[in-house]
Amino acid sequence: MTAQHGLWTRNFVDGQFVEPDTDRGFEQVDPATGRLIARVHEADAALVDRAVQAARRALANGWADTAVRERAALLRRAADRIEERFEEFVAAEVADTGKPVTQARELDVARALTNFRTFADVVAAAGLESFLTDLAGGRQALNYAVRKPLGVVAVIVPWNLPLLLLTWKVAPALACGNAVVVKPSEETPATATLLAEVLAEVGLPPGVYNVVHGFGQDSAGEHLVTHPGIDGVTFTGSSATGSHVMKTVAPRVRPVSFELGGKNAAIVFDDVDLDEALTGLTKSVFTNTGQVCLCTERVYVQRGVFDDIAAGLVERARGLRLGPPEDPQTTTGPLISQAHRKKVLDYFALAEQDGATVLTGGGVPALGTELGGGSWIEPTIWTGLTNAHRPVREEIFGPVAALIPFSTEEEAIALANDTDYGLAASVWTNDLRRGHRVAQRMNVGMSWVNTWFLRDLRSPFGGVGLSGIGREGGESSLHFYTEPTNVCVQL
Ligand code: NAD
Repeated sequence: MTAQHGLWTRNFVDGQFVEPDTDRGFEQVDPATGRLIARVHEADAALVDRAVQAARRALANGWADTAVRERAALLRRAADRIEERFEEFVAAEVADTGKPVTQARELDVARALTNFRTFADVVAAAGLESFLTDLAGGRQALNYAVRKPLGVVAVIVPWNLPLLLLTWKVAPALACGNAVVVKPSEETPATATLLAEVLAEVGLPPGVYNVVHGFGQDSAGEHLVTHPGIDGVTFTGSSATGSHVMKTVAPRVRPVSFELGGKNAAIVFDDVDLDEALTGLTKSVFTNTGQVCLCTERVYVQRGVFDDIAAGLVERARGLRLGPPEDPQTTTGPLISQAHRKKVLDYFALAEQDGATVLTGGGVPALGTELGGGSWIEPTIWTGLTNAHRPVREEIFGPVAALIPFSTEEEAIALANDTDYGLAASVWTNDLRRGHRVAQRMNVGMSWVNTWFLRDLRSPFGGVGLSGIGREGGESSLHFYTEPTNVCVQL
């Protein structure tokens, strides 16, 4: 059983890959070169229905009641099998995204394994909540809550960290005894499909993990979230799509978990260790070509170090190596598509109209004929903008940051919190008390001090405002993927 069938990337329903219907397919190109890499079989409403029905049957056939230790063992076997097939996952992720092979190895696929192992541990260690209630006359009641699977969960994920974000949802969902129907991004269908092979190999029963391919509106995404057979939606993607999905599921009152966009700030104080801060900022602005929801796009710098930070970031941005993804020296890949590059270039033009000084970048690099058809863009740094300008207010999702000066701590906090988003922030300082103080006052789900994207997967992850609803990670994930039933016994 193989995910790829010739050029076709196939749907996976009820434990089987579905033979492609040649009328319903779309082409997928390599973002690094623009060359055709696959045809993806688009699932129609009937196929999505089959997937949801298969998931319902899998629950009824006993998956929902499997012992926790069996589910934890299965997750560990899945992690082991991904490790054995590591380079296949790396190759699939690199082909879909154009990201550097080094990053795919060290971040994307490595984290996918860890997601499975972490949730095997978390679910195995989870306890029950209980209360002893004092009653009149000296009697007591015992309250305890048992947790049951949510049911059939619709899992919708974006293209930027496809396998990492998918397994961040699928691992806890399966750990809790749910069945899932997964809709990967139309841009990056390969690793979700390959994961179907792995999960079947390690003994996951048919129907517990299903993959349907396609787009959002009038396609697999919408067919899935409007299906009456789903019990909840876990969605990672843009705030606009999240809002649309929320309206779609509202009439049937299904729980949603939303990890949405960000417009994340970094605050750099003038007592900072310059070299360490520059290394961290470079990572936070340019990792994955700026296409991480956590990436920094606003950098507030105290006046005393503004020029040093600006010069240092420019030097480091120019030192990034754009090039073939398979070259281990490459640090920076293309954007995901020509359409996304157009969006980012429109922001570049807008920033210049708004009076930005482009310290470096601002355009399309010349990388020769081999990569000429790819969606490449230059790492870019601006000064001269303020919080009043759209490029500083709206999520761009590219390798770009605006540097904005500040004088006092209060001013920096106000500037960083002046946004409709609320996903992540980072604070760079050598003053221990100030680090804690400022990090706590950020109106975000994740606030880092002297680091960025450092994750303990047991800690809560998510955003406020336009950045989302709910938290994932550790027990927070278990709470979303289960429903408690409280039992009260009078003693
Ligand atoms: P997107 O919202 O365009 O698409 C996300 C997914 O939703 C895709 O699979 C898409 O096909 C599907 N979709 C689109 N319309 C739909 C509909 N009407 N019904 C059901 N499904 C639909 O986002 P994208 O461009 O793929 O990803 C980039 C966005 O994701 C950025 O805004 C980024 O910040 C966000 N993101 C957030 C996090 C986080 O953890 N907060 C992580 C990664 C990415």
